[in-house]
Amino acid sequence: MSAKSLRPSPVAPTVDLEREGKRHGFLRLPYSRDDSAWGSVMIPIAVVRNGSGPVALLTGGNHGDEYEGPLALFDLARTLDPRQVSGTVIIVPAMNYPAFRTGTRTSPIDKGNMNRTFPGRPDGTVTEKIADYFQRELLPRADIVLDFHSGGRTLDFVPFCAAHILPDKAQEAKAFAAVEAFSAPYSMSMLEIDAVGMFDTAAEEMGKVFVTTELGGGGTSRAETVRIARRGAANLLRHAGILEGEVERERTRWLDMPSGDCFSFAEHDGMIEPMVDLGGAVERGEVVARIHDITRTGGEPHEIRAKLSGMLAARHFPGLVKAGDCAAVVAVMLD
Ligand code: ZN
Repeated sequence: MSAKSLRPSPVAPTVDLEREGKRHGFLRLPYSRDDSAWGSVMIPIAVVRNGSGPVALLTGGNHGDEYEGPLALFDLARTLDPRQVSGTVIIVPAMNYPAFRTGTRTSPIDKGNMNRTFPGRPDGTVTEKIADYFQRELLPRADIVLDFHSGGRTLDFVPFCAAHILPDKAQEAKAFAAVEAFSAPYSMSMLEIDAVGMFDTAAEEMGKVFVTTELGGGGTSRAETVRIARRGAANLLRHAGILEGEVERERTRWLDMPSGDCFSFAEHDGMIEPMVDLGGAVERGEVVARIHDITRTGGEPHEIRAKLSGMLAARHFPGLVKAGDCAAVVAVMLD
């Protein structure tokens, strides 16, 4: 990192990250604009600290249209009692707060996709400044990081907790142990199709134990997926020795995304017909979705076929699809 990029972050926390007890406050980022000349973006943060034990960083709203994480984390911030904690829990329920407020994946201010912006810049766009604060101020404090995702408006997933295959096998083993403790219905050994700029990559490159999720989607949440998120956050903290009590283990089924063949992309615009539902078994070559021409009658539908055998782990959510959209993700069942 160049000396120029080491200028201090413009983000000012309104809470002391080191103090004992529970604090609710904001990461305040100055943002001068038409409706607020000396205004700020106010990103909610809670810090719960009891002694000098391990530090967990829990984040949601990395994408602004995914709700299980924010629901679980606003709730945890409200209810977590410092007397139950040994160490520190830093909770940011909505990382890309401008995007969260508009219910969009990316920021309405600069179109920034938080998970493609790391390491960010202290002198960049609003999204870059938030990413830079996480990169240089919050991530270095953490021993373990949980970043909640769901499918957002355009994708829907079977609920899983995930970690990545890593070059450091000891770090990878710690991450998979944390995934197992989260106890989602599915656990995923995850391959990224576009890892550059991800929060995940930033945390992993710092040697942190990093765990993520995909818990549903469609731009909303479900009772079941929110329960999974709440239990998972508590389980992760128990697993890390930060929250008192035993991990509430539930049966989890391990899935793998071994290659780019997991993904099927639409090559036509039109109306998508699911041929397999989420969680359904899929054979290699099977038609998982069809795309129908909506400009005229009489055309044959375009078939989207699975490139490997496994289970349908994700699907395009809206009824209409465009060429280039991710139509389906097939994961391989490991057990
Ligand atoms: Zn996401």
